[in-house]
Amino acid sequence: MDIFDKFSALKTRTDLVEKLGVDPFGVKFDTILNATRGLIGNQEIILAGTNNYLGLTFDPDCIEASVNALKKHGTGTTGSRIANGSYEEHVDLENALAKHTGMESAVIFSTGYQTNLAAIATLAGPKDVLFIDADSHACIIDGCRLSAAPTIRFRHNSPSDLEKRLIRQGEIEGGIALVVIEGMYSMFGDKAPIKEFVEVCERHGAYLYIDEAHSFGIFGPTGCGLAEEEGVLDRVDFISGTFSKSLASIGGFCLSRHKAFEVTRKAMRAYMFTASPTPSNVAAARAALDKIAEKPELRKNLKERSEQLHAGLLALGLELCAPPGPIIAVRRPNELIAATEWNWLMENGIYVNLAVPPGTPQSSSLLRISLSAAHTKEDIDLILAGFSQLSQLGDAMTARAQEVLAAQ
Ligand code: PMP
Repeated sequence: MDIFDKFSALKTRTDLVEKLGVDPFGVKFDTILNATRGLIGNQEIILAGTNNYLGLTFDPDCIEASVNALKKHGTGTTGSRIANGSYEEHVDLENALAKHTGMESAVIFSTGYQTNLAAIATLAGPKDVLFIDADSHACIIDGCRLSAAPTIRFRHNSPSDLEKRLIRQGEIEGGIALVVIEGMYSMFGDKAPIKEFVEVCERHGAYLYIDEAHSFGIFGPTGCGLAEEEGVLDRVDFISGTFSKSLASIGGFCLSRHKAFEVTRKAMRAYMFTASPTPSNVAAARAALDKIAEKPELRKNLKERSEQLHAGLLALGLELCAPPGPIIAVRRPNELIAATEWNWLMENGIYVNLAVPPGTPQSSSLLRISLSAAHTKEDIDLILAGFSQLSQLGDAMTARAQEVLAAQ
């Protein structure tokens, strides 16, 4: 028995997709020119799959803050905050996040993935019960796996199904119910009905935890996310997020309206036993938070570009998975056709994401686009022109996919 035997099905699937051209899961850019353009060799590619929602990765102030912190503190923290201490950037960003959102407590982590892993696994103990959305992100699922609490899934975006399950569960002796949802779901780009979830949780005394990874900085009058947009931010117990999208860096955060959340720093294993984020990453996120506060026009531009692209794709007769938003997922008939089309788009200078099972809900195959406030009207026209040409090639794409399959 070979240790890699168990990956043979995955290997076959990967080999097949690679025969179509570039490996969609191993794209290598030679240079990133700015928030919307990259180079592969000499070919300029329009970036439409980066989650760089506010386009701040090349913002001069974010770069300057990051470089200054790098020069001041060096390249790495070489340890965890519990064992090796905090830097002023860590504390400053936590204070700024708490202040900006009006939350009592803020803790930052090395990635968004670790944020959910650490917080969910720790907040729910053996006597508690976790209730999670059926389409939860992998790091929420992994947080539940690490937690000693049993996990109950409810139907995607269904407050009524959650309520049914909370009622069925009844009184939790010596424990609490912790409900975990996301603000905007990363694959389809659909939004949770947050206000209804808040009301269900309040009716049943359950705590509510919302991952706003794809919505923080993008929605709400001051960019705090969808809970703010729905006017219920102060009724949510925990908000988590990432620096790797609108905050243009790497790292994550969990905010709570409960001051007592502070004590969990000394209980969250994925906080305690891993190196803290570098001051340069944290400083970039801190500068991006200032932009979120100062530049509502970024949100406005992102919204307008999303509406433009959504309307244009609909006019081409394509099936989209959600109303207009920064994530626009085009549903394709199967993985092979999606991968063939993905390659064609790449060859024609348009980078989107190929999203396939098990990473997608409903076993769907998607061409997933994520937009940026840095995209111009003309950039969207360019993306639309690509999809328009692609639509006209319909049969040719199917034939190309079948050729590869036949050669297997
Ligand atoms: N939550 C959600 C909903 C995500 O989509 C992601 C990553 N795409 C994360 C958390 C993890 O964030 P990070 O990339 O910072 O680990």
